[in-house]
Amino acid sequence: MTTPIARIIGISATAAALGLAMAGPGRAQTADLILLHGKILTLDERSSVREAMAVSEGRIAALGRSTEIMELAGRKTRVVDLRGRTVIPGLIDSHIHAIRAALSYGVEVNWIGTSSLEEALGRIRDAARRAKPGDWIIVAGGWTPEQFREKRRPTQGELAAAAGEHPAYVQLFYAWALMTPAAFKALNVATDADVGPRGKLDEDADGKKTGGISGDTATITALFSRLPSPSFEQRVAGTRAFFRELNRLALTGVVDPGGFGMAPSDYQALFKVWQDKALALRVVYTVFAQKRGAELEDYRNLTQLLPMGMGDEMLRFNGIGENVAWGMYNNDNPSEADKAQFYEIAKWAAERRMSLNMHWHNDRSVGQLLDIFERVDRESPIKGLRWAIAHLNDASAATLERMKALGVGWAVQDAMYFDGERFQKEKGAEVARRAPPLRTALRIGVNVGAGTDAHRVASYNPFVALRWMLDGKTVSGTLLRGPEEAPTREEALRMYTLGSAWFARDEDKRGSLVVGKLADLAVLSKDYMKAPLEDIGRIESLLTMVGGKIVYAAGPYAGFEESPRR
Ligand SMILES: [Zn+2]
Repeated sequence: MTTPIARIIGISATAAALGLAMAGPGRAQTADLILLHGKILTLDERSSVREAMAVSEGRIAALGRSTEIMELAGRKTRVVDLRGRTVIPGLIDSHIHAIRAALSYGVEVNWIGTSSLEEALGRIRDAARRAKPGDWIIVAGGWTPEQFREKRRPTQGELAAAAGEHPAYVQLFYAWALMTPAAFKALNVATDADVGPRGKLDEDADGKKTGGISGDTATITALFSRLPSPSFEQRVAGTRAFFRELNRLALTGVVDPGGFGMAPSDYQALFKVWQDKALALRVVYTVFAQKRGAELEDYRNLTQLLPMGMGDEMLRFNGIGENVAWGMYNNDNPSEADKAQFYEIAKWAAERRMSLNMHWHNDRSVGQLLDIFERVDRESPIKGLRWAIAHLNDASAATLERMKALGVGWAVQDAMYFDGERFQKEKGAEVARRAPPLRTALRIGVNVGAGTDAHRVASYNPFVALRWMLDGKTVSGTLLRGPEEAPTREEALRMYTLGSAWFARDEDKRGSLVVGKLADLAVLSKDYMKAPLEDIGRIESLLTMVGGKIVYAAGPYAGFEESPRR
């Protein structure tokens, strides 16, 4: 498939269309695949809605009425009757730890989508029944007590009853973990000193240990890293299974910001799936700071043979982040030395025309980061390099103006869907009412990409995130964001497609359905534009296509799925 795609690259959209319509003598003027009788939301400049589409050599060859498009059908053309269903450009998560989540997907239990503790514990019971003796049962995050009818965390007794003989571990964000007695024994944890650097074993009013472990991000990360890690084969299988799960939810691409504990060796399963030509999702990835104090040296070494943009349309290297330097990571009060070090790295990246994305939480301190960006920009312009700030839910208009002037994009996630009540308590209802200020960002013209930050701190379901973008309600139904910062349905969808593609420097190749672009799309189970707001979170894909290939199909289209090459 690589060769024909390569032939089209670089020629204009119109020419690609003519290429199909004017194919020379001896070559049939036919499409590989046709979609008919649908409602295709193209997200082109005029927000056109089309009825039919022809796909040829992995790209969109034509759009129009069903009768016109049918003229491009030949003997071998596959025809999909949409029967009025809605088609959207494939969704792209602009900030998801997908590579890491995939490694353990095959051996973890996830609580995403459960609405009661009882149901969540049921998933543990099922996993325990299937597991081999001695296997761990692990929930790595992606849930909150707020999603449960019971509004509370499980107890050690409940977890142990569900997991049986198996050691079990349940993580809540990066703040807490619950382990069964068998897990305490397996990890040799008996006192606070056994859960460094800053862990505390929870106790009840009588001083009896409850099985919970409280700690900060470093502590919980260190604890998690002591769990047995999946074998290489399990990692490869997990990667394939997780990406298919994302396809089921209409995702066709991710922008991956690395993450805690992601060493170069952790990318090998992904590379294997790519080499096997079995990637069902376009992945662009950045490298995360490895060693404190040696960040620049690490980047220099890692990128000697990995220049910006290295890769292909399925897998590509996209720069550095989301932790650029440890000194400024989650630090509202960086020292002059921390800032000087960050500046050196940022300047190095700018001179190499490299993308850079940085995680930041508080508007009150983000000026220190923007000061550095502005200084670098004066010396080596960063506009066009697609630098980005992730999170920053309380961004002020002034901050967004500075980002706009620098050409820095904003990666927004639905963290508040899970964590909104805590945010509101910490920052107040006024701040929560405009967090994140999506409409203000649109007005100012900052590029906004949507996403989830899954899977330790949030669910990866993009439709849950879209619903939250539209209604501003948390998982327990609390209304936080006001309508004045709510985007329209189309604007939210643009953030999840074109907006996210921007971070991969790909908005001219994907993110909308226009002639000449990659045929990345999803046929939805419900009409995203018309469905009641509360149903949007339950939408799934019935057919997902990446580069013209049907990577996922269900229900009426189940027979269309093309099994990945092995
Ligand atoms: Zn982050």
